[in-house]
Amino acid sequence: MLTAVVGINWGDEGKGRMVDLLSERYDIVCRYQGGNNAGHTVVNERGKFILNLLPSGILRDSTVNVMGPGMVIDAEHLFHEIERLREGGIAITPDNLKISHMATICMPYHRLLDCLEEDRLADKKFGSTRRGIAPVYADKYMKKTIRMGDLFHPEFMISKIKDIIEWKNLTVVGGYKHEPISADEMTEWLNKYAMPFAKYVCNTTEYLGAAAASGKKIMFEAQLGALRDIDFGIYPYTSSSSVIAAYAPIGAGIPHVRLDESIGIIKAYSSCVGEGPFTCEMFGSEGDKLREAGGEYGAATGRPRRVGGFDVVASRYGTMVQGATCLALTKLDILSYLEKIPVCVAYDVNGRRTESFPTGLDLDVAKPIYEYFDGWMSDVSSCRSFDELPENARKYIKFIEGKMGCPIKYISVGAEREQYIEL
Ligand code: GDP
Ligand code: MG
Repeated sequence: MLTAVVGINWGDEGKGRMVDLLSERYDIVCRYQGGNNAGHTVVNERGKFILNLLPSGILRDSTVNVMGPGMVIDAEHLFHEIERLREGGIAITPDNLKISHMATICMPYHRLLDCLEEDRLADKKFGSTRRGIAPVYADKYMKKTIRMGDLFHPEFMISKIKDIIEWKNLTVVGGYKHEPISADEMTEWLNKYAMPFAKYVCNTTEYLGAAAASGKKIMFEAQLGALRDIDFGIYPYTSSSSVIAAYAPIGAGIPHVRLDESIGIIKAYSSCVGEGPFTCEMFGSEGDKLREAGGEYGAATGRPRRVGGFDVVASRYGTMVQGATCLALTKLDILSYLEKIPVCVAYDVNGRRTESFPTGLDLDVAKPIYEYFDGWMSDVSSCRSFDELPENARKYIKFIEGKMGCPIKYISVGAEREQYIEL
């Protein structure tokens, strides 16, 4: 069984929480794109953990975790992320963590360039997390990066980093008028933070290919939602990688396999961190209350997230591009305080009503058309079956399922591992 667990919305749908729950049913969990630019929060019996780079399966003893070639890995961040998990009693060894030799290393100068460019853009900024992700993916496509496999050839790696930095300084010094990057410092950094991972690096394509052939169950874990995909998202306010399910086998390193299932994680309301069009956004006290109720502050950055009602238009588009075979609806419990539940049922684009997701300027000018559903005004966090849910909650779920044209298989009613309903 090969399953992708992917986000339908703008990210922060609760993917980490669902992967943590579902990973029990899989032998291997792979991350296939992105770096430490987003965060998953996982709460289980061992405590509360924030994962930025590691696959969520790392919190289970028997799961093998793979970081695929589609990833960009800040070795310093990974070093500290692993340290924090070890302090929390999680064992991490080359047996349960395998890093692809083709994965790209995100260097300190990628972070620097991210900051220099965001600062230069000033009020036109993209809302980058400033973790170097766009610069490192750009360099990957320029074919000027260090890959994990280079750690096996230190002399080659050092001569390569020298060449790359000579080129990089053309931009850093000549363009941004910043002091030059030092090749010695970068070599030191690689030795200190990346080298310790050499023992985790392997040919994960062979490993996963053999695992898939022998019938092992593999889960592909997405970071960020469909609307942040570099091609299909709200470009340019997107991430710099492909987050969609169709890319999962490629980014994980096994392009020759086919997914059996794509589980789309969809939130019972909307949230969006950073810049970009977010049509369903709610402002004022209505928005503040939802943000507070949902605890909508970024896991990676602590930034308050923008919030809104469930967005039928954006979510149906997300469900489509993810090729979702079923959905997991999360954070239903958060809506319990609302007498009337706002749902963005369509957009108004220049006076025309539409249910199809626009792009570019049409998206920028789109206005939400809201309808209100009766709330249930009661705690649902201890419900464990669909029938136990209040009638208005069931109606709300059935409405979303109908609009998405995709079955809802899981409903999450709390952050803890067991707080969910399976249909
Ligand atoms: P991800 O990036 O998609 O993994 O999501 P985040 O971890 O950034 O944000 C989801 C947040 O909601 C986390 O703090 C989760 O612990 C929490 N969460 C997930 N599902 C539920 C749920 O059903 N109810 C509640 N109350 N919290 C949830
Ligand atoms: Mg998140």
